[in-house]
Amino acid sequence: MKNIGNIYRISGPVVVAQNLNAKMYDVVLVGNKKLIGEVIQIIGDKTIIQVYEETTGLCPGEPVENTNEPLSVELGPGLLKSIYDGIQRPLQGLEKKSGNFIERGISVNSLERDKKWNFVPALKKGDKIKEGDVLGSVQETPTILHKIIVPKGKSGIIKNIKKGEFTLNDIICELENGEKLTLMQKWPIRSARPSKEKLPPEIPLITGMRILDSLFPLAKGGTAAIPGPFGAGKTVTQQSLAKYSDAEIVVYIGCGERGNEMTEVLVEFPQLEDPKTKTPLMNRTVLIANTSNMPVAAREASVYTGITIAEYFRDMGYDVSLMADSTSRWAESMREISSRLEEMPGEEGYPTYLGSRLAEFYERAGRVKCLNNEVGSISVIGAVSPPGGDFSEPVTQNTLRIVKVFWALDAKLSSRRHYPSINWLQSYSLYKDTLSNWYEKQISSNWTELINKAMKILQEEEKLQEIVQLVGSDALPEKQQITLEIARLLREFFLQQNAFHKTDAYSSLDKTNAILETILWVEKKALETLELGVCAKDIVFSKSKNKIANAKFEENYKQELINAKNEIEKEFEELIRNLV
Ligand code: ADP
Ligand code: MG
Repeated sequence: MKNIGNIYRISGPVVVAQNLNAKMYDVVLVGNKKLIGEVIQIIGDKTIIQVYEETTGLCPGEPVENTNEPLSVELGPGLLKSIYDGIQRPLQGLEKKSGNFIERGISVNSLERDKKWNFVPALKKGDKIKEGDVLGSVQETPTILHKIIVPKGKSGIIKNIKKGEFTLNDIICELENGEKLTLMQKWPIRSARPSKEKLPPEIPLITGMRILDSLFPLAKGGTAAIPGPFGAGKTVTQQSLAKYSDAEIVVYIGCGERGNEMTEVLVEFPQLEDPKTKTPLMNRTVLIANTSNMPVAAREASVYTGITIAEYFRDMGYDVSLMADSTSRWAESMREISSRLEEMPGEEGYPTYLGSRLAEFYERAGRVKCLNNEVGSISVIGAVSPPGGDFSEPVTQNTLRIVKVFWALDAKLSSRRHYPSINWLQSYSLYKDTLSNWYEKQISSNWTELINKAMKILQEEEKLQEIVQLVGSDALPEKQQITLEIARLLREFFLQQNAFHKTDAYSSLDKTNAILETILWVEKKALETLELGVCAKDIVFSKSKNKIANAKFEENYKQELINAKNEIEKEFEELIRNLV
């Protein structure tokens, strides 16, 4: 068998080659056009290949050439601000070469080769280095220092190390053993980059979304899923997280969703400002776009491409967050390829290894001590789009078994225009207890108490609603009428948050805490007023409570909350005075 075989059979994105010397996961060039493919099965003398480009027009007999390399990404300066397809081909580079419609079989470097970067060494001649060490750095964008990491398998004593302007292929460091290092390295996407140890998830990823930060927090290095039916707000939530969460690097994978959703991201992101540094958000972002009209196999790969890039930045000691929208489309690409391979289908036609693939992917999240002893993290947030919003389907169910945070979107809430439409009774976070320490130290000593109280009121509201629907709220005991009113304040002024409002889109933890505290203060005041003999109806009808809403939309929320409290106090006093 040789390095060049030929096509035996073609079935959509799957091509069978014969007479080809190949190993599993080798990258091969398929047909006269040299389409990029990857070996996914070997049966006897037949090699099964998934092809990352459209296969129409391929004919049996055309050549298949083995590159003998695994599917890898290029890692080095120039990753940030890039927009890639599922196998890390830069969309702009492709466009330059082939125009608006991407031609097949064109090869473009993932990272620009001509550009020079200013390398500042961190080590000197005679220093001993090993895989994972930081050799030096390049100021890649105004906000991100790109650390140059010693690639896998390289170690020894530095013979010389240079300083100055270099392209990615220039040699910046030579070792005594003759090894030469550059600013760039490659990594096979299907294997995780190593780290020393996993650290406990004790620091929250602050999202700026009140409901998430308070009731269902995600840890840095944690995993979360956002399942929801079409139009419930998965994409808006993912994009809010990309914009506002306190990760230093964002990897956003648009995976199999409609082209126009991704277009919004591609058009909008480059114009967005990082709220922390007031510089363009793209300075710390890598976008991967594989929309529904792009080849299905590349969609399968896009998730691995994204997480490998995330791991690389994690290894520099950064907190990275990775969004995948949507993992259901990713699972569908596995299903399509599996059916082409005529594998025995599992539930609903998905391959039997669906669960293990999902687990392997989420397993690459985590807060770790890197090989170089820096601490970095990858938080993974996957959108799930179950058909018809039915959470009992295989992708949602398998994801639920793996992730620690579940933000369940609810079509009933979105149809009532309650955004974000995250159902507070269905959602959960398994990080809540581990993170409460952090919140109590950093934000407020009674944080956990407030959160638990709010949750209890919301749960009680659900129970009371059933009674209200039968007999009306007047029939409820007075205290419970107050509970319903406080629950309304919580829903409207705390949980609801407009992702498109310039001030409300991001809520700092202090603001989140202050609004919650104010609403629970109203509860206390209302119950005291009730005690004194004022009837619940008058308390419920009092208008000034609604002033709390102003705090959401004003920069000076503290003053707004003070104003609201003063007015509420006055109104309640008035009710008491009217008693006598
Ligand atoms: P999905 O990705 O689940 O199909 P989208 O994220 O595209 O749904 O949301 C659909 C629409 O719902 C958005 O275009 C927007 O109008 C509205 N929406 C969702 N979340 C919010 C939010 N947090 N604030 C304001 N509007 C929202
Ligand atoms: Mg969407």
